Amino acid sequence: MAGAVILQPQPRAWLEHSVLQPYAAGYGEHLDRGRYSRSTKRVYFCCVAHFAHWLTGERYAVSAIDEAAVARFISEHLPGCDCPYPVRRLAYEIKAALARLLEALRADGIISSRSAAGDHLGKELARFDAHMLEVGGLALNTRRQRCRIVGQFLREQFHARPIIISAVGPAAVQRFVLGDGKEWSAGTIGVIGGAIGCYLRFRSISGDQVAWLLAAIPRAAHWRLAALPEVLSDAEIDELLRSFDQPFPSCRRAYAMVRCLTDLGLRCSEVAKLRLGASTGTRARSGLPGPRCVAPISSRCPPPPVARSPPICATSGRRH
Ligand SMILES: [Zn+2]
Repeated sequence: MAGAVILQPQPRAWLEHSVLQPYAAGYGEHLDRGRYSRSTKRVYFCCVAHFAHWLTGERYAVSAIDEAAVARFISEHLPGCDCPYPVRRLAYEIKAALARLLEALRADGIISSRSAAGDHLGKELARFDAHMLEVGGLALNTRRQRCRIVGQFLREQFHARPIIISAVGPAAVQRFVLGDGKEWSAGTIGVIGGAIGCYLRFRSISGDQVAWLLAAIPRAAHWRLAALPEVLSDAEIDELLRSFDQPFPSCRRAYAMVRCLTDLGLRCSEVAKLRLGASTGTRARSGLPGPRCVAPISSRCPPPPVARSPPICATSGRRH
């Protein structure tokens, strides 16, 4: 029924006694085509079983399953769900599992596609997805991510109206990519800008004038670090060590760390993990690399004051 996925008796019963039972095998094959791991497939099947249990209680027909039903399940049932253990209630797991379920049902023609229902956005995203697959050869996850981003953008711009790219201004593109007030990281801005750029290039094939929109996409800073030297020269190391001639807070600690880097050849992560008591003996046992430089170490910082021990008397009695 669920392919190689082994379900616990309760979710298996929910699935087998629901309208989704005939389509469980197709769902498993759909997940296999997406190369989901065995553990993820098991989680998704458990989520679908929970959804199936709810469908049975609500007397849903399979043809009535769509995004609205999923939204009802998540917003109305999950907050007060008292289904018996084991049941999966994490919304993000359920959203992902049910999105794949809708894909599988639509691929098999069990439920109507959104495009067939006259959804402009669904049609547009289906065309965009086909373009990414057939022209760009992009992976499934990349296509899904870009469709999700572009879908959100188009939904904000047009809602349920027909999509007319000439009605979109550069300011709207810029505002969306930058997050409209959200403090997104440069990486996120790059991903969103890439998805919007990909979509605009797709529209340009259809004859739309999108050059000014492409130019409006903010570019996240992407500085290469290749210009940084990998190894300091001897003169640079001497200059670095001379910087410790002037006292400053934690001078000795910083100096010791630099000597560990320059003389012992330790990595930064290894130096950061050093603790008091680490010695050459522990270095030998831990397999740390040997010194890169055999030159004698000359301490530029004054030696730490030696704590004086009180005099030890060999004989009892007061000494004079
Ligand atoms: Zn429940």
